[in-house]
Amino acid sequence: MSLIRCQRCDSQISEEAENCPKCGYPISTMAKLKSKIQPIKQTKTIIGAQSVYAWLIILIGFVLIVAVPYESFGGIIGRAFGIALIIIGLVWGFIVGLPKWWSQ
Ligand SMILES: [Zn+2]
Repeated sequence: MSLIRCQRCDSQISEEAENCPKCGYPISTMAKLKSKIQPIKQTKTIIGAQSVYAWLIILIGFVLIVAVPYESFGGIIGRAFGIALIIIGLVWGFIVGLPKWWSQ
């Protein structure tokens, strides 16, 4: 049994309740459904933002490799750092992408 919020007085009510014990507002089936859908939506948004960050890291790593001339001082370090960023980005993207594949 979980708790949902009353749409009128914002107090916590049992999911099983027909009416809000405080203000008597009827708890509709829609409100019950919404409380179940919202956590799923939030998780998806977080995963979406995470995969954007993962792609951003891959992009920064790629830019580092392309932008830093190999002959210049620290070129090897820059390249190694860029490759490391791409690997981190790929691993991160793989980790945050896994829940998406499971839910499908
Ligand atoms: Zn209420």
